[in-house]
Amino acid sequence: MNEEQQPETRAIRGQLAATQYREHSAPLFLTSSFTFSSAESMAETFAGNGEGIIYSRYNNPNVDELIAKACALEGMEAGFATASGMGAVFASLAALVEQGDHIVATRAVFGSTHQILTQILPKWGVTFTYVEPDQPDSWPAAVRPESKLFVTETPSNPGLQLVDLERAGEFCRAHNLTFIVDNCFATPYLQRPGDYGADLVTHSATKWMDGQGRVLGGLLLGRADIMEQVTFFCRHTGPAMSPFNAWVISKSLETLHVRMAAHCQSALTLARWLGEQRGIARVHYPHLESHPQYDLAKRQMTAGGGIVTFELTGGEAAARRLLNSVQLCTRSSNLGDTRTILTHPATTTHSKLSREERSAVGISDGLVRMSVGLEAVTDLQQDLLRGL
Ligand SMILES: *Cc1c(COP(=O)(O)O)cnc(C)c1O
Repeated sequence: MNEEQQPETRAIRGQLAATQYREHSAPLFLTSSFTFSSAESMAETFAGNGEGIIYSRYNNPNVDELIAKACALEGMEAGFATASGMGAVFASLAALVEQGDHIVATRAVFGSTHQILTQILPKWGVTFTYVEPDQPDSWPAAVRPESKLFVTETPSNPGLQLVDLERAGEFCRAHNLTFIVDNCFATPYLQRPGDYGADLVTHSATKWMDGQGRVLGGLLLGRADIMEQVTFFCRHTGPAMSPFNAWVISKSLETLHVRMAAHCQSALTLARWLGEQRGIARVHYPHLESHPQYDLAKRQMTAGGGIVTFELTGGEAAARRLLNSVQLCTRSSNLGDTRTILTHPATTTHSKLSREERSAVGISDGLVRMSVGLEAVTDLQQDLLRGL
């Protein structure tokens, strides 16, 4: 990797060295293990000194290429790629805590992250406290002597609440907490938490990084010393990403910057347009002037992202009507695709929460989440009008 090049150049040119065939596009190394020229070289590699690769649960050329590109984009030192985003989130927590530890987390974390905090880690004696994402002054009250990690996500899914990363960095340094950010919604194209002192960034590469709804993947990217601990955990517990998925996502990173620019532009156009339509009570989008954290969003994110949410005045019935009327937009729970996707969080992704829990993270009965794809905006507008 040429450290002097811009991140988008490195995401294109930071590919594996060509084999003897001088191929232009990196080939797929679909192999579980690798061979050694001698017993000595094999022993050296196992001792951690050799140049060889041992086994694809540890390393694989395609996976290594993806990690190198993602580190360049996030400005991080080291990484590990996992089979899914949740594999990365779980490893980021499980690798860094021990019995008796405590985690401070911002309330609006991803649904499965909430399940890990509430159902899985407590079995091992690890507890947590939620703090309000938009009230950093209240965070220190949640810190205990045994607090180890600060876990956050910005913008949140689907509430689009923001966490001030600069304040979060100061908070973590003041209280000696490891600072972990799920940067899935923003991608490194919009914000780099490492610039604010984040020690570890996780991604669901399933979303904008693949960007075409094909494969699952996750990434852990961070400071070298933290990643040493996390990599040890991952190598011996087995959440490794398949070489095929790494190959797909690595190719996708070559176009992340152009795709994200287009997603964000269409999302802003649609957010403004939705605000003018009848039957819509509120539109939420970080770069819309009406967003309660608009100033922070402008300061922290280079663009508003590809997710727009809106609340229909007709509540759940109106949301159902909209989802049943569209012919171009798809009803699906994924996000970060070339195809525009509509979801009704209250009856799907967040149906397990009580109505009070949902409203605490900004999910009303009439809320619709739209992951804006790359279709022509005029076609999307025409389609949405069928159901509004
Ligand atoms: C989807 C998602 C995840 C989980 O990723 P998977 O690849 O589905 O396991 C984690 N965090 C956020 C913010 C997500 O949107």
